[in-house]
Amino acid sequence: MSKYWSPIVSRLTPYTPGEQPKISNLIKLNTNENPYGPSPLAIAAIQREATSALRLYPNPDSEPLKLAIAAQNAEHGITPAHVFVGNGSDEVLAHAFHALLQHDDPILYPDITYSFYPTYSNLYQVAYKTIPLADDFTIRVDDYLNAGKNGGIIFPNPNAPTGCLLPLSEVERLVASQPDSTVIVDEAYIDFGGESAIALVSRYPNLLVVHTLSKSRSLAGLRVGFAVGHPDLIIALERVKNSFNSYPLDRMAIAGATAAIEDQAHFEYTRLAVIKSRNTLVEGLTKLGFEVLPSAANFVFARHPQHDAAEVAAGLRSDGIIVRHFTSARIAQFLRITVGSDADCQALLDALPKHLQKTAGD
Ligand SMILES: *Cc1c(COP(=O)(O)O)cnc(C)c1O
Repeated sequence: MSKYWSPIVSRLTPYTPGEQPKISNLIKLNTNENPYGPSPLAIAAIQREATSALRLYPNPDSEPLKLAIAAQNAEHGITPAHVFVGNGSDEVLAHAFHALLQHDDPILYPDITYSFYPTYSNLYQVAYKTIPLADDFTIRVDDYLNAGKNGGIIFPNPNAPTGCLLPLSEVERLVASQPDSTVIVDEAYIDFGGESAIALVSRYPNLLVVHTLSKSRSLAGLRVGFAVGHPDLIIALERVKNSFNSYPLDRMAIAGATAAIEDQAHFEYTRLAVIKSRNTLVEGLTKLGFEVLPSAANFVFARHPQHDAAEVAAGLRSDGIIVRHFTSARIAQFLRITVGSDADCQALLDALPKHLQKTAGD
């Protein structure tokens, strides 16, 4: 606290990202990064941009990237006018809160969800109401339809940190039943097991679908995300962006992201490898007695009926393996474990029995 702070700053509750450890020999299964590298074509494109041309500002509209995203989704009627890009999908989401969710009625999102949503609500003073997930941790569309007037709806699909997928037909039922609300579907993990709602965009002017290159494109370090929606929604986002930062994507990010989107072969290969490793990880955890929620993401959400999640996480940490543990009441006995390389997943499965024994004996 300082007398120099503006009043809103003292009322903020900033988001706490997962640990990025300084020591390098840790097995990092805590922030859902992709164990495989980005497309070699993306790395080459980034390197080609590292010239004296960096003295010039980048393309303010990131046009090559919007063209690539539109081309990839052309079968769904997507054009560059349907695309917004930002410095990570977190920035895209922040602008969406500001541009599309700041109304009189409270917005709706699940009680267990991406913890940046309450942070943005707080930052932009957006009133919100949380809708409890069902006992099996899935989203029930009817609960949103019965929640009364709302200023918008946002949820991740698959949800974070549960990994549970809402079928596309249910997403459509929600979007179709709420024509007066913007519905934002945060598809950070959709490539690992779901069908994207981008397929619905041309039919629903109230739907905004948000993607990131951090997970399935393995470019968390480049900071690129995008949204696809009706051009009127995109104009709202552009108005906020152009009142905030004209150049959110630098030259290297535009070039690297464009090449990554165009490298479909690398994307498919690594996506399928992660899905395969996830199946092995789920099998291994289940054998050790964990209950694992059905995951359509590049992480699993698991609890052990006999062992305290915080203790297991601390035990793993002492072995150099980091997983994510959240303390909010409903999920305090769960661990969120990123699907790493096969070797990393195996190291986790090998380390676990010792820690399960230890807490059992206490
Ligand atoms: C990782 C994640 C994002 C943010 O991704 P960035 O593009 O790296 O900012 C957004 N939403 C959810 C649900 C995520 O898990």
